[in-house]
Amino acid sequence: MLTNDQLDKWDRENFFHPSTHLAQHARGESPNRIVTGGSGVYIEDRDGNRLLDAFAGLYCVNVGYGRTEIADAIAAQAKELAYYHAYVGHGTEASITLARMIVERAPKNMSKVYFGLGGSDANETNIKLVWYYNNILGRADKKKIISRWRGYHGSGLMTGSLTGLELFHKKFDLPLSQVIHTEAPYYYRRPDMAMSEAQFSAHCAAELEALIEREGADTIAAFIGEPVLGTGGIVPPPAGYWEAIQKVLRKHDILLIADEVVTAFGRLGSMFGSNHYGLEADIITIAKGLTSAYAPLSGSIVSDKVWKVLEKGTDENGPIGHGWTYSAHPICAAAGVANLELIDKLDLVTNAGKVGAYFRKAMAEAVGSHAHVGEVRGEGMLCAIEFVEERDNRRFFEPSKKIGPQVAAALLKQGVIGRAMPQGDILGFAPPLCLSEKEADSIVAATVKAVSAVL
Ligand code: PLP
Repeated sequence: MLTNDQLDKWDRENFFHPSTHLAQHARGESPNRIVTGGSGVYIEDRDGNRLLDAFAGLYCVNVGYGRTEIADAIAAQAKELAYYHAYVGHGTEASITLARMIVERAPKNMSKVYFGLGGSDANETNIKLVWYYNNILGRADKKKIISRWRGYHGSGLMTGSLTGLELFHKKFDLPLSQVIHTEAPYYYRRPDMAMSEAQFSAHCAAELEALIEREGADTIAAFIGEPVLGTGGIVPPPAGYWEAIQKVLRKHDILLIADEVVTAFGRLGSMFGSNHYGLEADIITIAKGLTSAYAPLSGSIVSDKVWKVLEKGTDENGPIGHGWTYSAHPICAAAGVANLELIDKLDLVTNAGKVGAYFRKAMAEAVGSHAHVGEVRGEGMLCAIEFVEERDNRRFFEPSKKIGPQVAAALLKQGVIGRAMPQGDILGFAPPLCLSEKEADSIVAATVKAVSAVL
């Protein structure tokens, strides 16, 4: 067992952390939490703290920590067969079973699953599939992808470009030229306070259509969006948004990619966000909740319509030139099967809807009328508090004040992990789907204390 000092030293000397202020971390100015265990909605660290993880890691540990059913499935698969690839038609019982289970749960027009490792690589796959699709259909110019400001779709070259958050572009020479962004369906930040939700949805659809007409519909392949904006601030769509957007996309023959990395497998209280909001996507991205992060696994679920063209493409061009060594990794697939079984067995989708609604209502009652709380919003087991300098005039804090991070830090002192969302003063919650009402009460009580400590 290494001493704490040794771990700290090696961490700072050798570990390149993702999404971290590298210089501050190296100087020892940022937290250096070493996590040692977890059970239910709690994690433990080496300093003996027990923290309620109200963000389920990175909204991914949906079934909660310490589930031996999944650990056992992983161990059994590793002993039987740790790895074989999925190229040229190979498979394992776990990967075939999981593909079947996913399609059975997905919206009806979906038929095949391409497995990856994380949400970013799945979205990279999606864009390649869309380009391939249009090439097979003889539409070589129909290649641009529309994404939304504040959307989050990953950190790769293409997916970092699709992401509509400045931090993920700055100094990386992104976005790439094939990506264009349109307005976020962020009702609280609507340009005109007099707009109703329906009017704002119509406005977003009109903005999208104007963009398509400016660029030329024959140059645009797909639109990608999360059913609920996640990392961009946990923002559910205004009423009628998806209906209005899909009408425009259909009119201009543009494919819809529903990025359900956060929303699939129950987070909104429905199996898929697409079911929840009536999205009829051509491709759906899944990751996080697929294994509840017990092993890295993602998927691109492809509709019949897209699949037929891909098949035709391989008859004309030979095998599809797209493959990851670890696609459909048997250990990850075994984790996925055990995880989906557990979600069914514990009825976590229903729990997410029920306890999620309880949690959001309790949060709104507890802090919603605070002078510096502009809005408490969410859907299912997703909740956000947006802090403002002046509530009535919707005046935002100067970013340099870092109110969101301050409240998150105060919350941590109360033993609860929330997340300061990367843009704006927004505190986000995405607890494991197994959260109980009592645990929800603890998050709310800690938040009340944290808010009054800072504001
Ligand atoms: N898409 C969405 C909606 C996400 O929230 C994320 C990650 O948070 C990703 C894609 C990227 O997934 P990963 O971090 O597994 O690459």
